[in-house]
Amino acid sequence: MRRVGDRLVLASHNRGKLREIEALVTPFGIAVSTADEHGMSEHVEDGTTFAATARLKAGIAARGTGLPALSDDSGLEVTALSGRPGVYTADWAETGHGRSFPMAMQRVRRWIKDHDASASPTPPALRTARFVCTLCLMWPDGENLVFEGAVEGHLVWPMRGTLGFGFDPIFQPNGRSETFGEIPADEKHAISHRAVAFAKLKAHLADG
Ligand code: IMP
Repeated sequence: MRRVGDRLVLASHNRGKLREIEALVTPFGIAVSTADEHGMSEHVEDGTTFAATARLKAGIAARGTGLPALSDDSGLEVTALSGRPGVYTADWAETGHGRSFPMAMQRVRRWIKDHDASASPTPPALRTARFVCTLCLMWPDGENLVFEGAVEGHLVWPMRGTLGFGFDPIFQPNGRSETFGEIPADEKHAISHRAVAFAKLKAHLADG
């Protein structure tokens, strides 16, 4: 099994994700740096699947730095919206002058309401949703590993909590009464889609 070595570049420009991935990687004694710190700017993500996009992001960072790179492509899949916003989750927050997640969460709510109005009778699973995370670990020569994780739950309104990032305030994982916006980081790291994908990556590396 190929080793990561002692340095890894995190191929993300999303501060919330960077915080979480760093917390997951650091216990392994691997020094992490970010694509930003290597002077790399954010690129347009044009994959149509989580895995394709994760590979694109990791490939750019690995080739650009000569280091193994770890990327994360993730998003929210709403059952009633046939899995949307999915790979386009971040785009739903675009305002034309930066991202607004309160606006994006209202948008999801509006879409579900519109769907609700046309559904008769209202499906009980209308608010079910899942967060999906695809991690890609890529070496500079292009060899790569992809791991996926998901956490099931449902959407709640009004938004609750100020912890986490992105859509956390409207996502309540199954088995909990709090949203990800109310669950402390160390607890989210034990159950999140990112933690599930990371556990698979970790197990694979440990097997080698
Ligand atoms: P991308 O992977 O950069 O395309 O962005 C995925 C988007 O999904 C992020 O901008 C967040 O809005 C959302 N997202 C992914 N993971 C989480 C999470 O753990 N909590 C809340 N939102 C998330």
